[in-house]
Amino acid sequence: MLSGEALGAIARIDLVEGEGGRVTPVDYKRGRPPNAPGGAWEPERVQLCLQSLLLRANGYSCSEGVLYFVEAKERVTVPFDDALESRTRELLGELRTMASGGRIPPPLQDSPKCPRCSLVGICLPDEINLLSEPARAPRRQDVRRLVPGRDDALPLYVQAQGAIVGKTGDLLEIRVKGSLLQTARLMEVSHLALYGNVQVTSQALRELCARDIPVCYFSYGGWFQGITTGMAHKNVELRCRQYAAAMSTGASLPIARRIMFGKIKNSRTLLRRNHKDPPAAVLAELDRLAARTQAAESMETLLGIEGAAARAYFGEFQGMLKAGGMIFNFQGRNRRPPRDPVNAIISFLYSMLIRQAMVTAIAVGFDPYLGFYHQPKYGKPALALDLAEEFRSIIADSVCIGMINNGEIGGEHAIARGGEVALTQTGRRKVIEAFERRMDATITHPLFGYAVSYRRIMEVQARLLARHLLGELSSYPVFRTR
Ligand code: SF4
Repeated sequence: MLSGEALGAIARIDLVEGEGGRVTPVDYKRGRPPNAPGGAWEPERVQLCLQSLLLRANGYSCSEGVLYFVEAKERVTVPFDDALESRTRELLGELRTMASGGRIPPPLQDSPKCPRCSLVGICLPDEINLLSEPARAPRRQDVRRLVPGRDDALPLYVQAQGAIVGKTGDLLEIRVKGSLLQTARLMEVSHLALYGNVQVTSQALRELCARDIPVCYFSYGGWFQGITTGMAHKNVELRCRQYAAAMSTGASLPIARRIMFGKIKNSRTLLRRNHKDPPAAVLAELDRLAARTQAAESMETLLGIEGAAARAYFGEFQGMLKAGGMIFNFQGRNRRPPRDPVNAIISFLYSMLIRQAMVTAIAVGFDPYLGFYHQPKYGKPALALDLAEEFRSIIADSVCIGMINNGEIGGEHAIARGGEVALTQTGRRKVIEAFERRMDATITHPLFGYAVSYRRIMEVQARLLARHLLGELSSYPVFRTR
């Protein structure tokens, strides 16, 4: 790492070859030399030239650099002349002007660089171009899926009481009373979810923090109680914008309207798809309420609309349950504590959904405690709750309905005591499995047209919200299933 105060630049140089004071910077590239004059594109030549300017500023003599193409095992020498040096200084000046302007430049259009760019999952070039500038944008069918449709890393759940999670090499080990229960490769774990009395060794915790793998803590019954993460995300700019927008009704109300619109529309879609005899009046009422969100002039109005939509939707919930009977007789939404098996399943699923939203919010760089619809309250993960809203019906409720209708869960998986109904350990395991299956299921994205998992969709939504706050998208494009 080398800096030069007069140049106002810092460079990380892969390798410096040299003898005495005469040196050559070497930059490693993955592929083969491009079919360009001199075997290198301008950005690579400029990058090397800037490295050489920094080396010279630090007392070395440097007249050329080398690009080493790993796949071809080929060296391309780039001589430094006056033209390249003045072009490098010119671009450095332009870059500084752009950075001080405070506005992120738009992503490249249909660039062949994007598929191999390490920032592609954050940048989302085709998606942002499609949503931000329809005139310049690719058509929906031309949006390239440049990130994998699914994540390789998945959550690791531990609900064996008394279990200890430790670390050996690149593995997490789960032991109960000294006996090894299970191992998991750290690189395949997205986050750790611990239920009840489960311990984590400090060695494991340190490694998880170093790898940015959050640890989420739940009560034995599934109540989400806390999270441990590594150092806070470096994206300070995003958090500044988040705080500013959350403190301004003018900025947060439009986001809240979009979130509620999506939530109500998605509930309506679930009802239409799953109800034995979809009631036209309720579907029309949900449509009407969704339309009203767009004109809501205060958060209180939105809260009222949300309450009315929930009554209409949950009033017909039983019609989506085929098994019915005494065990799964849903009479309305209740919680803290849930008083029937359906509400126990729904509450457990919602807490998992909020955990997923919390982990996603942190990974993108947000403060999960400051939302736009949910108002700040000590310990309330308001942004995670905001991000979960549009997915409550299509992920959590849908899993509950599917499990009951397929006979995957039954009366033996719930226990009632003192007016409270909770899931048994086997019941919870079954719900966790069904939830993870749903998160992993791929669907065709309604806006971008490519196949992608729900887990990835949640991340994309969080990133789109960030791009809206950073000024790249004029509104938050809430996720709506068809
Ligand atoms: S993905 Fe984004 S940052 Fe990377 S090359 Fe494409 S436009 Fe540039």
